[in-house]
Amino acid sequence: MSNPAFQELLSAYKPIWALNHASAIFEWDSETYMPLEGAKSRGFAQAEIALMKQEHMKNLEQSIIKVQKLPELGDHEKGVLRVLGRELEYYQKVPPWLIEELEKITAQATVVWRTARKKSDFSIFKPFLEKIVTLKQTETDKLGYTGHPYNALLNLFEEDLTTNDVDRMFSGLIPESKRILEKVVSDSIFPSTHPLEEMEYDQDGMKKVNLEVLRFLEMPEQSFRMDVSTHPFTVGMSLEDVRITTRYEGKSFRESMYSVIHECGHALYDLQIDRSLEYTPLAGGTSLGVHESQSRFWENIVGRSLDFTRLIYPMLRSHLTFLSTYDEGEVYRYFNMVRPNSIRVAADELTYNFHILLRYEIEKKLVAGDVLVEDVPSLWNEMMEKYLGIKPRSASEGVLQDVHWSGGMIGYFPTYSLGNVLSGMLLERLQKDIDLGSSVSDGKLNSVKNWLREHVHRWGATYSPKELQEKLFGDQYVPKPLVRYLERKYLG
Ligand code: MG
Repeated sequence: MSNPAFQELLSAYKPIWALNHASAIFEWDSETYMPLEGAKSRGFAQAEIALMKQEHMKNLEQSIIKVQKLPELGDHEKGVLRVLGRELEYYQKVPPWLIEELEKITAQATVVWRTARKKSDFSIFKPFLEKIVTLKQTETDKLGYTGHPYNALLNLFEEDLTTNDVDRMFSGLIPESKRILEKVVSDSIFPSTHPLEEMEYDQDGMKKVNLEVLRFLEMPEQSFRMDVSTHPFTVGMSLEDVRITTRYEGKSFRESMYSVIHECGHALYDLQIDRSLEYTPLAGGTSLGVHESQSRFWENIVGRSLDFTRLIYPMLRSHLTFLSTYDEGEVYRYFNMVRPNSIRVAADELTYNFHILLRYEIEKKLVAGDVLVEDVPSLWNEMMEKYLGIKPRSASEGVLQDVHWSGGMIGYFPTYSLGNVLSGMLLERLQKDIDLGSSVSDGKLNSVKNWLREHVHRWGATYSPKELQEKLFGDQYVPKPLVRYLERKYLG
């Protein structure tokens, strides 16, 4: 990283880093401590920051061109050009009026969506979704694409992802998941309900559990904190300051605990990026799919394993007195209940990807104009019945359950399944080097963290998600390893 032209580009990027940093703190504060009336001025400030960022981005163009002309580029230089090039390309292709229209309509639509969901009335949200879909179709045309128009939107959330990739992934994943799911349900291998779901906990005790979980995961106290919010999330301020949140619903203690483990997976990715990448465009995860693979790896593959349950069981019992009549096997069964459910965020490992497939199919049709917004609720319900045998009882348990569309995030959902599939690929690759089971039962989670740092985290966004997978696995988004893991766990 010594070439003067490259150094100049990195210097020119620093104000953008600082604006991102400020914006991240604003976002974190909005979801945790900000009083309700602060929302309006916070929105104003965030919009101003976004404008400043755009200005600085445009000013980078000349520096980028200079670096592009350099005779030999290393991996870091190429990574920086790739990340900045993508952002710049978006601003060049999508006209300001369209960005502004999308901002305006989505700001309103998220508020309208909340009311529509509360009243379970799709007709309130319908005109907004129609407008959003039309604008996203225009965005697709401006961005350009090869193959399906939805590819233009997929690429915004996961670099170079196409419907071919996603179709291939689901065609290997869904029939196998269905087979395993049917067997688990018909033979009651894992329970579909459990008395611990109804068990109320005291928040102080639960908070102690969560703090102990952070200790098991050896989260670095000096560069990490945990707070409370309605929807758990992770936000990285820098490589040495990452915040997560959880929630306390008062019963079914696993929900709060698994939110912590999931968000810690995201946090570890940011915290283990090589410090030399700080203040550069590479100081973050390479994609949403790879990020989600980290959270799902820790939440499901580590966190819901029998070894981990045994590891934390004595600690759980000391803080949650009602566990005295449940042994570790029973707690493990509670952690791994299998129950087709109409709500995505409440889905288990076996049913989760069906929820994503449904959203993917609908989004593809919407973007191509193959379905009208007014027909989406009935299409949703039909597919729900086809995939999971469930009829949502209301629009709020069906088409209105997720916030994403109201925020204009069409093309985001598939990254959740990419994360699941990648977590399976990581498991098989990691097992070649270390024994995950004994690392977990011995409480040596640092060896797992170190492996992830070495093979995934330290690069930040240096390699695109596809490049990273080629380096690690010699292949991309392959569902087989996840299927093998599910088969072993649920039928083995
Ligand atoms: Mg996540």
